[in-house]
Amino acid sequence: MSEPGAGREERDRIVAELKELDRKIYPEDSSEKLPERKRDLLKDRFYEVLGEYSDRLPRMVLSKCPHCGAPLKRAFDPYGLDGPWWHASGICKIEEPAHCGHFQVLLGAVALHGREPLEVKENVQPGPDVPFVVPKLLELPKMVAVVSWISLASGDTALPIAYFSTEEIAPVMLHQPWCRKDYWFKTEEGGSSWSVANDLFDFELKPYLVTGQLKWVDLEE
Ligand SMILES: [Zn+2]
Ligand SMILES: [Zn+2]
Repeated sequence: MSEPGAGREERDRIVAELKELDRKIYPEDSSEKLPERKRDLLKDRFYEVLGEYSDRLPRMVLSKCPHCGAPLKRAFDPYGLDGPWWHASGICKIEEPAHCGHFQVLLGAVALHGREPLEVKENVQPGPDVPFVVPKLLELPKMVAVVSWISLASGDTALPIAYFSTEEIAPVMLHQPWCRKDYWFKTEEGGSSWSVANDLFDFELKPYLVTGQLKWVDLEE
């Protein structure tokens, strides 16, 4: 399977350092507020460590293209929802591996199996507890959604839901990715812009499985 291998300890150390820096930069007790110069230095350090976290995240196979069979590899944090990868703020600058030309956008869900994620202190939007599709995305030409599943260290199950099409789709037509509040895209004029999709989710998957617009893929096969 797409086992990230070693790296858990390193990742936990980095996440702990980020939490500690965050506590110092934004103390709960205002009497502990640091002088501005000191805070600026800690902020610089925070972004340095955050870069290390992003670079060291495992690049895991999260899906498989239904059109050409290429695995979809993405940076992912399988070690816990307390990692900044999961934070809705989207502060990680991630260099993603190359993917086939059919990949459009990655959404997802996380089944907590009744667990309360007490480790999460930041704003995290890991998605619903069960898989879903966005019908508006499936109305785009030749679009197919692929659901897979990955066991997380916490016992939760992550459910990546990747969208692929053989047609060229204008990025503005897509959706904010997994865990993010908005999505950024290049405009036709070459600039960049952002949007927030507010499309309905459909949890009734069977009709889409019947038409072939939705597929389950076992990543271990
Ligand atoms: Zn492909
Ligand atoms: Zn469950």
